[in-house]
Amino acid sequence: MLTVRTISELQQRLAAFRAEGKSVGLVPTMGALHEGHASLVRRSVAENDVTVVSIFLNPTQFNDKGDLDRYPRTLDADCRLLAQCGDDILVFAPSVDEIYPEPDTRRFSYPPTDEVMEGAFRPGHFNGVCQIVSKLFSYTTPDRAYFGEKDYQQIAVIRRMVADLGFAVCIVPCPVVREESGLAMSSRNTLLTPEEHTLAAHIYRVLHESTLLGESVSATHDFVVNTLNAIPGLEVQYYNIVDGDTLADVSDWTDAEHVVGCITVFCGATPIRLIDHIRYK
Ligand code: AMP
Repeated sequence: MLTVRTISELQQRLAAFRAEGKSVGLVPTMGALHEGHASLVRRSVAENDVTVVSIFLNPTQFNDKGDLDRYPRTLDADCRLLAQCGDDILVFAPSVDEIYPEPDTRRFSYPPTDEVMEGAFRPGHFNGVCQIVSKLFSYTTPDRAYFGEKDYQQIAVIRRMVADLGFAVCIVPCPVVREESGLAMSSRNTLLTPEEHTLAAHIYRVLHESTLLGESVSATHDFVVNTLNAIPGLEVQYYNIVDGDTLADVSDWTDAEHVVGCITVFCGATPIRLIDHIRYK
């Protein structure tokens, strides 16, 4: 496993692999890696000759500076985890100046995917995501890029960006990896106290229970919101039951082929913002 810090070294290494006819998989991350990230990396290692794992805490996708300041930074541990994920991994861990020598003034807009839910509550978030992911796609020209369904909405936005900009990359969505309690693994989970960790496990428990209700969309929505808000220390920011492809709200289960519930919950005193989703159909 090799770690490179600059775009030029990354491109030189990749050019040599390409000359040998090797395929390239890309796994973009912000570090503080856990088993969720590792599942993406292992999948890429299995499906490509070379896997680039980028570790870059992208400032332009944080609308809340406190969130960026608090975000865990664990590069050494990240490299140890990646070393267990297979051979032929190239870690790309650039500085902020390497990626943004000048402020990135590009604006991306893919309504409604980037306007609803996270887009509404984190203004500029998906613009920052498109800025960094488009740069990573340009530097690496991957055959495949791996994204977790943990960030369900992000995949919909990136698919729109790929179609818009004509990147010849296959987007590979990967299932959410959960802790034993059902809590979706997240780098932000390390910021939770043990008590908050226990609280956070209610999110998936309630989402899962809601799939067994057999009620209308609006009654299912209200069940999730009311049950979670009744637990001291949890506060639902939004819960949207949407078309799994377009992310438009549905009012009836028959409105779309795939129906997904996307949630964001504030947990604990800080509070830590946690996202998750559940598939109904
Ligand atoms: P992040 O470092 O949070 O930007 O995440 C990098 C990639 O890992 C994204 O595509 C995430 O969706 C994915 N990811 C994060 N947590 C999980 C998880 N628990 N299961 C599957 N994928 C995940």
